[in-house]
Amino acid sequence: MDRIKAIGAKAPGHGEGGAFFVRGERISKRRTFTFLQHLCDIFRKKTSDKTDKEKREMADILIVEDELSINELIRRNLGLAGHRCTQAFDGEEAIELLGEKTFDLVILDIMLPGADGYEVFDQTHGIPVIFLTAKSELSDKLKGLTKGADDYITKPFQMLELAARVEAVLRRTKKAKTCFELDNVKLDFEKRLIFVDDTPADCTPKEYELFETLVKNRNIALSRERLLDLVWGYDFEGGTRTVDVHIQRLRAKLGLERQIVTVYKLGYRLEAPV
Ligand code: CA
Repeated sequence: MDRIKAIGAKAPGHGEGGAFFVRGERISKRRTFTFLQHLCDIFRKKTSDKTDKEKREMADILIVEDELSINELIRRNLGLAGHRCTQAFDGEEAIELLGEKTFDLVILDIMLPGADGYEVFDQTHGIPVIFLTAKSELSDKLKGLTKGADDYITKPFQMLELAARVEAVLRRTKKAKTCFELDNVKLDFEKRLIFVDDTPADCTPKEYELFETLVKNRNIALSRERLLDLVWGYDFEGGTRTVDVHIQRLRAKLGLERQIVTVYKLGYRLEAPV
């Protein structure tokens, strides 16, 4: 930051042609160029980090609702929650958008001008759907449909409730990751195996469970007592020393001495990229 503050630029017309100065001294064009490039790199890295992070958490949601104020309310709230929303105000527009783009979720009103919600639903082809409906529209047809839809919510609704349902549906429908990788270590949740350099590690079932628990709670400090409860069960009568012994073995077997961190006076934490 100091370097940036120390830089001053004189406007053309002072006889310097817009040159840059560091602590009062004019710097060469080449140095200026290198320095500006450096600043651009920092900026580019910062913005790309952000978009990568956002990409991971963001869902593409299509909001189909003809009442402008409701549509806008939903868009604003889900936008604040970090989702990317597309708005459609009638059925035909929704069907068109479904043909053009892929969505992670559709929030779908029933009574719509153009094609109604049922017709739009037929075009969702497996995309999770939350129906928005007035109580009076809760017909048998909708009840039948909701077997295929993921949820429905009756109007008037609380925005908080809709947001919670959206997150729940997204969680349920997100493709479950079957593997976790950290450096040369891979945990396969389905096979219940840990691989080091693609070779199955010689871990006991308890060591596996301990590592799985650390992975599922990665970047969170877990107390020895909590680990005992989670891995050995509430009725386990041994002491917390058991946890320490198993952690030592895991670290050695997986070569994760650096990543399985001891949290002073508490327990352990697995440090892994989020
Ligand atoms: Ca409507």
